[in-house]
Amino acid sequence: MTVSDTDLKSGFVKLGLNQNYVIAHASLKAFGSVDAETILTALLETTRGVIMPTFTYKTMLNPEVGPANNGITYGSQADLNNTAEAFHADMPVDSMMGVLPEVLRKHPTAKRSSHPIQSFAGINVDAILNSQSLFNSLAPIGVLADNDGWVLLLGVDHAVNTSIHYAEKLAGRIQFIRWALTRERVVECPGFPGDSEGFNAIASDLEKYTRRVEIGGALVQAVQLKSLINVVVQKIREDPFTLLCSRQDCERCNAVRWS
Ligand SMILES: [Zn+2]
Repeated sequence: MTVSDTDLKSGFVKLGLNQNYVIAHASLKAFGSVDAETILTALLETTRGVIMPTFTYKTMLNPEVGPANNGITYGSQADLNNTAEAFHADMPVDSMMGVLPEVLRKHPTAKRSSHPIQSFAGINVDAILNSQSLFNSLAPIGVLADNDGWVLLLGVDHAVNTSIHYAEKLAGRIQFIRWALTRERVVECPGFPGDSEGFNAIASDLEKYTRRVEIGGALVQAVQLKSLINVVVQKIREDPFTLLCSRQDCERCNAVRWS
């Protein structure tokens, strides 16, 4: 079944976000047959502005030594170090982020921030993008929340919901240091977040802040960002180990347990 631009637009209109900025995460496969440009156009026509993570993990380096309890095994990725690429403004989005962020990044009116690992791209969200710094990589999420932004999960679940990382940081959860190659030098990047595999445990707590619509077989969920952040912070304060994954060898989740 092909999902048309009309299907998408009428679906998104039902979410009632035409006056709101959104941070979107998407799996196109969930929609059956649809192209990314059509989804992006429909989003732009039914919201105030769109931002997406355009992360670039291939810039990352793993040093021989570094700070303790940093959720990493130092010196374990010599191969990756050899193939690491210096960040530049036109660097494609990591393929694991999906197709839509790359289409957004290449859109003629899109802007992109310049963090060498955790850049964001967006349209009509310049002030939000400009809030990012090397020392506050998730600042755009905070500015989005302050401006009644919403999280849009298009055929994906909370395991890819970047905004939960912002709430983890706000709740005082340990953040990590990573290193990225740029054309000038190796840059130390603080504030690298933990693992998101266990994030779906938040879904039931967000029930009353979530709007849903089905488009072409894909479940589209919209969650008010401010409420999401409050709910996650509260949950972590009640249980410091909540939302961690169950993999015993997960270095970042274990670092949270040991912190
Ligand atoms: Zn984990």
